[in-house]
Amino acid sequence: MKIRKGDRVRVISGKDKGATGEVLFAFPAVEKVIIDTVNVAKRHTRPTGTTKQGGIIDKNLPFKACNVAILCSNCGPTKIGVRIDEQGRKVRICRKCGGDL
Ligand SMILES: [Zn+2]
Repeated sequence: MKIRKGDRVRVISGKDKGATGEVLFAFPAVEKVIIDTVNVAKRHTRPTGTTKQGGIIDKNLPFKACNVAILCSNCGPTKIGVRIDEQGRKVRICRKCGGDL
């Protein structure tokens, strides 16, 4: 999984197709991401001993990483490529324009 926390991404399939947001959490082990504004479920909660406040809370549901594409500042949704820089580090690049992501 090449998407990381803080990336700007667009949903490319599913009911939220076309939505964009920032990755809040990435879970590489299960190939899932949580995006700030997308896939928010309203949860109705009641006041109990542990949660003092009842009401409706927003809960961000995780997305499959294969259903989102990273946004390149030049070309929009794109695939992630990798290049090796002068220090031997891996740098993520846009596969369309070749710019660093
Ligand atoms: Zn690009």
